Amino acid sequence: MTSTGGGSEKVSVQVVIRVKPLTEHDLENLPTRFQRQIVTTSPYATNQIVVEGEKRQVFNFDNVFPPETTQQEIYEKSVENLVNKFIEGFNVTILAYGQTSSGKTHTMGTADNPLIPSDSKGIIPRAMSTLFSTINSIHHSKNDNRKFSIKVSFVEIHNEDLIDLLGEGVEEERPPVLIREDSKGNIYWSGLQEVKVTGVEEVISYLAKGSQHRQVGATDMNEKSSRSHAIFSVTMLQQKFIPNNNNGSPLSPTTPTFSRPGTPSSRSISSRAPSRANSVMSSRFDDGEWVTITSKFHFVDLAGSERLKRTAASGDRAKEGIAINSGLLALGNVISALGDPNKAKYTTHIPYRDSKLTRLLQDSLGGNAKTLLIACVSPAEYNANETINTLKYANRARNIKNNAVVNQEEMGWNDVGHLQSLVIKLRQENSSLKIANATLGLQQQQQQSSSGIVTPGRYSYFRYTWT
Ligand code: ADP
Ligand code: MG
Repeated sequence: MTSTGGGSEKVSVQVVIRVKPLTEHDLENLPTRFQRQIVTTSPYATNQIVVEGEKRQVFNFDNVFPPETTQQEIYEKSVENLVNKFIEGFNVTILAYGQTSSGKTHTMGTADNPLIPSDSKGIIPRAMSTLFSTINSIHHSKNDNRKFSIKVSFVEIHNEDLIDLLGEGVEEERPPVLIREDSKGNIYWSGLQEVKVTGVEEVISYLAKGSQHRQVGATDMNEKSSRSHAIFSVTMLQQKFIPNNNNGSPLSPTTPTFSRPGTPSSRSISSRAPSRANSVMSSRFDDGEWVTITSKFHFVDLAGSERLKRTAASGDRAKEGIAINSGLLALGNVISALGDPNKAKYTTHIPYRDSKLTRLLQDSLGGNAKTLLIACVSPAEYNANETINTLKYANRARNIKNNAVVNQEEMGWNDVGHLQSLVIKLRQENSSLKIANATLGLQQQQQQSSSGIVTPGRYSYFRYTWT
């Protein structure tokens, strides 16, 4: 038993579509005859999108955001609620999917920097802003004694290599980032820089630092296009004091003692049983107990989903393209295996291991997480085929069911030393109780014999306490 009282929710992967407005750059670069907008949305059916391509196709999603949607609206309608779930202790993952230049990085805010106007900020800085303001108000609250510790990491998957975007020093001299699996089947990363953060500005500075390291290269479609997946992860550790029912005040709990150093960084991004890997040692106190809640938030800016021939890629660029397509292909296969009700009946094997991307996202797809897929599309006729491909891909993801649980556990549950001292303490309490009961029984017996009454029930109770 690792979970002590955390909630559990069966949820489908949420899928929303964002239609990008045609930018000046698009108008200059797309052939004029293909600039016609073929994607329509309706204010009366905000979950529907219609593509007037060679044939008319209609798709339904959890939400469809038309081109005029602001960054703030996307955040409020689709993300804010997930940030609150994250604070409750659920794992959350948001993926941005779509062809190059469809607005993934803009939507996610993966490349935001401190100078960006606040209207333009993407999901990551907004989510961090909600997170830190909630934590600040909790700190000022008299009725909430939670303590928080937040760390961020930023990796890129490029040609199936994991690159640490926050790594210090010369890249070649750094230990490689590896995905490992422990004996219990938990997945975790090693060799990864995780930095403690205490405010939004710090997070944005790390975003900017990491984005500068990202592998980018020019193609016909967008000179800033990226052929790699970028994953910005936030790990939050909360300590919460749960008072005993009748004594102990939530306002003045005994401070926990940590007899073991904090979680090693290589352990803090784990899979199936994250709470187990992140347990922190503490003691149980007379007035209650401390529990830890560990939650992870992955913001995934996926590589462009377009087919290679559209980018006229060649040489090394083509190799990159093939590798990326293999990552997205594996993601597609996982989505298909999890999402197709016919396949799901017969398939127990989900091919998470086919790529690093799917391995890392294992607990976000069909596992322990709340997941939002934001599929970004262009409205232009020029991109009609890619838009249809994106909508079909996104549609399949809607069938995936996740089972999200709060990763809460009693502190020290996996610590043998802690459990041994707990057993000793409980034994002592048990024998004190026996002695107290025996004394009480003797007193009662003396009272009864002095009054001349002996009841069998009481006598048997007395005997029981000594067996
Ligand atoms: P991707 O990451 O999918 O390749 P980007 O997010 O880099 O695409 O977007 C391509 C270009 O379009 C960028 O210059 C970006 O600022 C612009 N853009 C994307 N979405 C929007 C939007 N909703 N409103 C205004 N400009 C946008
Ligand atoms: Mg991008």
